[in-house]
Amino acid sequence: MPESIVTCMSVYMRFPGGRKKAFTMSYDDGVETDIRLIEIMRKNGLKGTFNINSGLFAPEGTVYPPEKFARRMSRSAAYDTYVNSGMEIACHGLTHAYLDQLPPELATYEVLRDRENLEEMFDRQIRGMAYAYGRFNDNAVETLKKCGIAYSRTVISTNSFDIPGDWHRLPATCHHNSDKLTALAKKFLEKSPTGDPWLFYLWGHSYEFERDNNWALIEEFASYIGGQSDIWYCTNIELYDYIAAYRALKFSVNGKIVFNPTAMPVCFEMNMNKKIYTISPGETVRISD
Ligand SMILES: [Zn+2]
Repeated sequence: MPESIVTCMSVYMRFPGGRKKAFTMSYDDGVETDIRLIEIMRKNGLKGTFNINSGLFAPEGTVYPPEKFARRMSRSAAYDTYVNSGMEIACHGLTHAYLDQLPPELATYEVLRDRENLEEMFDRQIRGMAYAYGRFNDNAVETLKKCGIAYSRTVISTNSFDIPGDWHRLPATCHHNSDKLTALAKKFLEKSPTGDPWLFYLWGHSYEFERDNNWALIEEFASYIGGQSDIWYCTNIELYDYIAAYRALKFSVNGKIVFNPTAMPVCFEMNMNKKIYTISPGETVRISD
């Protein structure tokens, strides 16, 4: 069969600017070492999400013993750290409870009260979450959906760059202590997908850098992965909202008339002509062969 006949019609999501790769991070517990991590991220142009337990802020003026490495911030310190950081603030449960074993009323309170507290504290919508201890089950997922939580990160690593399918059972690419981190970063930088886009999703706790005495690991990783013009650096919710907007595009049956009903510009690539399109909010474009 001639090659021209076997070409299948494919449409591939592209990130803002037509980019094929996105990078995001997710760090938990609202601890003092987040301050240093955010400095490293900002210096290298990285973005990400910080998951906080609004019921577990340390009393103002808390002085920790020198050997304590996971030092939760006070409410005022957390406010100062995150409010204008450019990072997403997300839920991690009011009291860091095992969400999969709580009675439904308590599970709902654990999520909804945390969300309400953080929304009032930071004067913005809070729609993301990471499961405390990575623990979840089907009931926990249903609770999150009813509480308006758009996504929740697990502690599952895929060691891949796949785009998330189930946002309420969201896996990461890897933890920063993974022995595959360097190889994954090298592949992500040196190669590029031709079909579906790639996502590198890194997770952890910033106190681990202090505990493991390996701040150099994240400093070197951040300077290696940062500052690349072909990577979109985003928070978790920016990624979620962008992918939701892409999935909301309306295509005619022959794929040649595309309407963007959303409030953000959306990019995609058509394999029939190898062109990358950016469709403005409310715009309809016609695809030529
Ligand atoms: Zn935690």
